[in-house]
Amino acid sequence: MTYYDVDWSSRFDFGGPRSLGMLRGVCLHTSEGNPNIGAEGLANYQLTSRTGSYHVIVDLSGKRLRENTDDWVTWSSGNKGNDILVHLCFTARADWSREQWLAQDRMLRAAATVVAHWCSTYRWPARSVNVAGLPGITTHDATRAWGGTDHTDPGPNFPHDVFERMVADAMNPTPTPGGGMNHDQDIRAQLTGSPNLGEYPGWPQLGGRTVVDALAAIGHKLGIDGFEAK
Ligand SMILES: [Zn+2]
Repeated sequence: MTYYDVDWSSRFDFGGPRSLGMLRGVCLHTSEGNPNIGAEGLANYQLTSRTGSYHVIVDLSGKRLRENTDDWVTWSSGNKGNDILVHLCFTARADWSREQWLAQDRMLRAAATVVAHWCSTYRWPARSVNVAGLPGITTHDATRAWGGTDHTDPGPNFPHDVFERMVADAMNPTPTPGGGMNHDQDIRAQLTGSPNLGEYPGWPQLGGRTVVDALAAIGHKLGIDGFEAK
């Protein structure tokens, strides 16, 4: 899964190397300032001012710009957070309402693919946690518990519930058969049928049967004891 659209990691030369084994989770940020700055605009500002950096920034259009590779310490939070977290920044504001966040569906979904990539790669649970609850998805605000920073982004109204679901969806894309179900439900439906009548019709190449029904039909035809055709 490609987790960025644009890669500027060769241009961000401040920070320093680190071991991937130190990593414990994802940290979410907002850029503050003008949300319409765009991914390149924010990255350019950070490059020239050398005031901060992240691993990936995501803008309102859903563009994902990689500023640094995961094995590079960024200037995103206090020291400990910089050392052990991967940092994602929205071109957004911590004073946004929940409605303002939910209006930026493209940005949230694009960011969810980045966080899904990290959670899959490092086997972190896709759940919102404070720093004591790591591994998982935490915030700049939560890292204040470690000291060295007073920022409270991404703000009190960030829709963690919606974002967590988007990350989970990005980690388990729904396969085509039995659309609308999650991954585990879909596999179960392929094997045994959905509990909801008509939701999973079975396989065309099995005469519309599920895997279990097809096996039962074969066993019945062969006269194996206990096999019953449906
Ligand atoms: Zn921040």
